[in-house]
Amino acid sequence: MDSFLKTVDDTDVLVQAQNLNKTYYVRNGMFKKTRLCAVNNISFDIYKGETLGLVGESGCGKSTTGFMLLSLLKLTSGKVFFEGERIDNLSEKQLKQYRAKMQLIFQDPYASLDPRLRILNAVGEPLVIYHRVKNFNEKKEYVAELLKAVGLQADDMNKFPYEFSGGQRQRICIARALALQPSFIVADESVSALDVSIQAQILSLLIQIKKEQELTYLFISHDLAVIKYICDRIIVMYLGKIVEIGSKKDLFSTPLHPYTQALLESVPSIGKKNAKTILQGEVPSALNPPSGCVFHTRCPHATDRCRREEPVLHENGNQKVACWLYT
Ligand code: SF4
Repeated sequence: MDSFLKTVDDTDVLVQAQNLNKTYYVRNGMFKKTRLCAVNNISFDIYKGETLGLVGESGCGKSTTGFMLLSLLKLTSGKVFFEGERIDNLSEKQLKQYRAKMQLIFQDPYASLDPRLRILNAVGEPLVIYHRVKNFNEKKEYVAELLKAVGLQADDMNKFPYEFSGGQRQRICIARALALQPSFIVADESVSALDVSIQAQILSLLIQIKKEQELTYLFISHDLAVIKYICDRIIVMYLGKIVEIGSKKDLFSTPLHPYTQALLESVPSIGKKNAKTILQGEVPSALNPPSGCVFHTRCPHATDRCRREEPVLHENGNQKVACWLYT
């Protein structure tokens, strides 16, 4: 993938996020409302054919970012481009053609399937909505192909969700996401509800399908082991901001940002003691974020400048980092 990255240009960009912001106003006491900045001025590109990872602790804005890219959540400000066309300002009717090309795989395979719908209808629903099948038999044939593509049996279309395990349900959700032959899939914590052994099977399936169908993924996870397994490039987020972007190889071999270093240190591995000594304390509240660098309250290298001035994301070798240590 590193060689791929050296040769990409603007025409290789599938999705572009420009200065995305998402702000909520939450009630604070009887009359007061406080501003909560869930995503704070982030920009990045997603290249055709890559798996881009979005990693960070819970509440850092990863899922909000994914939802904004898919126009499932309105932006407070910023722009989203898909295949070079701006899509964040389109009406629901105009968005319909893009919705078919961009799909979401949810975290919880138990909650994302309607328990009353047979798998035939759960997977076949988008085919009917988008008029991709002419009749019932065509729908059955199409759904059978989709189920086989994700490692299930054609006969499974007659069953209800409760008849499947968690891993099988996630395969069904993947089949449904593939129904309209998308080019871009956002996988939001798509394996975190599964056992580790099942996680590996689903990740392998996603890798296989990506190759077969020339897909592009945004893979959102808090789990660095999962990110390392499946991603080509990685964005690290902290408190609504991007703090580092790099290829998997660079980021895991030479993490630059102290937060990325702390995240990697906190991944348990055999023979590593005191794995969690670096990343101390809780993530500060997004309702009252720290001044200057948002990581300064937990950073072992913080200086007065860090507490005063906010570092901007800038290039450092092949990576991008937002930290005063690299200016
Ligand atoms: Fe730490 Fe300062 Fe870098 Fe922020 S800018 S990560 S506080 S060294």
